[in-house]
Amino acid sequence: MSLDVMSLRQQFPILAQQIDGKPLVYLDNAATTQKPQAVLDAIIDFYTTCNANVHRGAHRLSDEATKRYENARDTVATFINANVREEVIWTSGTTEAINLVANGLGQRLKAGDEVIATEMEHHANLVTWQQACKRAGATLKIVPMYDNGELDIAAFEALLGPNTRLVAFPHVSNALGTVNPIKALTAKAKEYGALVLVDGAQGIAHGGVDVQDIGCDFYAFSGHKLFGPTGIGALWGHHTVLEDWPVWLTGGEMIADVTYDSATWGGLPNRLEAGTPNIAGAIGMAAAIDWFSQLDTAAVQAHERTLLASATEQAESFDGMRIIGTAANKVGVLSFLLDGAHPADVGFILDRQGVAIRTGDNCAQPLMKRLGIPGTARASFSIYNTLDEVDALFIALRKAKAMLA
Ligand code: PMP
Repeated sequence: MSLDVMSLRQQFPILAQQIDGKPLVYLDNAATTQKPQAVLDAIIDFYTTCNANVHRGAHRLSDEATKRYENARDTVATFINANVREEVIWTSGTTEAINLVANGLGQRLKAGDEVIATEMEHHANLVTWQQACKRAGATLKIVPMYDNGELDIAAFEALLGPNTRLVAFPHVSNALGTVNPIKALTAKAKEYGALVLVDGAQGIAHGGVDVQDIGCDFYAFSGHKLFGPTGIGALWGHHTVLEDWPVWLTGGEMIADVTYDSATWGGLPNRLEAGTPNIAGAIGMAAAIDWFSQLDTAAVQAHERTLLASATEQAESFDGMRIIGTAANKVGVLSFLLDGAHPADVGFILDRQGVAIRTGDNCAQPLMKRLGIPGTARASFSIYNTLDEVDALFIALRKAKAMLA
């Protein structure tokens, strides 16, 4: 079954607009995806019919809000094949999910302990561990990668040891598009008894994430990269690990018993979710997952491969273009540089032609330094993009080249 891209597009009202009289070509999907009408409707319906706080009201609206909010948790749990629904902790996004883990681990780390991350981390999965290690006197070790953007697996194995407490790596690199062999990396780390956190911010939107199959302890992701709203995401953690995971935020909803002197904590998942949550966000994220789950995963992945293959082919024959990130297993992202042109200028000229891309360090400054480049221009593709839009990107790039190079 192939994807009916034209009918998909019609479900995204934002895509119909023009920029300076030219059709919007939205190729910044690794930054955030657009939202289908079903998601917008779910959010509006919540606020229009049952807005109330969850878990606390003794009234009909609160009951309905709680039902939708907790059903949303079930939706996420099923989507990633969690063992039990309590393994899904709502967060504001990937960043907060990683911080939740790092704060908890940080309470246990001691001098001499080691955490491993990779050269291709987004700042969210680098700075967070760097600071947690600094606070504890632990050491952060970095797995090198080859120039094409593939991790050096032998070097990774050499970094593992008896002091490795946690290994963190991205499922998919936001800057390079590399799809990492997360199952194999996890299995290796497990030989040393280390915890494994997968940064799934870029991995989640391509379908087929099965946390039990991966074998990791944590998988962090954001709703907004998956056709859902901003400000909501989830941390999946294996229930045996989350069971006694140190609390980081304290406040309402996460307690069992409180006196002026002390407090005891409630059970999962609430223990790790202090305060009024993003109820509409959770409901919107579940609507996005429901919407996305109706699509055929194989067709989604095939369409994404077709888009990237076309973009890569055109990039390879584009005089003066250098592709950044040429791993054999890539998805969704074409990062590149044009000889003699600054990425920011390329982005500016493309925007004038209705083509939206990202330019800059991709929230991965150490990676840019490692590659010896100031940043990249990055086109990133999603299921609603068409081959015509890939062509439009290269037409716009030819204009940019003529003006800049
Ligand atoms: N990790 C990766 C690989 C990402 O691409 C992003 C978002 N650009 C993040 C983490 C952080 O996600 P968020 O900003 O939604 O918390």
